[in-house]
Amino acid sequence: MSQHGCSAVVVSCMDYRIQSAVMRFASHNFEDGFDYLSMAGGPKRITDVITRSRVMDQLKLAKELHGVRKVLLIGHQDCGAYGGSEAFGELSSEVSRVVADMMTAKQLIKAAFRYEGVEVYLAFMTKNGRSWKSHVIKADVPLDDAVMGILEVDEEQDQY
Ligand SMILES: [Zn+2]
Repeated sequence: MSQHGCSAVVVSCMDYRIQSAVMRFASHNFEDGFDYLSMAGGPKRITDVITRSRVMDQLKLAKELHGVRKVLLIGHQDCGAYGGSEAFGELSSEVSRVVADMMTAKQLIKAAFRYEGVEVYLAFMTKNGRSWKSHVIKADVPLDDAVMGILEVDEEQDQY
């Protein structure tokens, strides 16, 4: 039996624009470290019947090898796995779709494993000169108008 472990496993997208926020967020919340599953589309891969078992295998290992108790699903804005933001008419429809998929993924994980918790987050990013700034917000609660307002502003800044 392994003598090392950590409390969380993070499932997120490979998109380079969100990596700094995902790392900052997870490091801040889990000082003992975390397992990290990074793949195109992130949590969306769990809803896809073709890729689901690969992700589930990794989640099983995180639990068995490292005693992980919590899963963090982090979807994001403008994800290529959805065809980017332009595939949606409005930010609110994009957010609804990505969050709905993560809620489905959460149910699938809860049905398969006894994790203490499965939490759902969204990463957003803005372009700052040549680099990207990103941040993570909790998403398994209804996103109120104030939050959506901030995100709309971010999206406008994204144009520069
Ligand atoms: Zn993505």
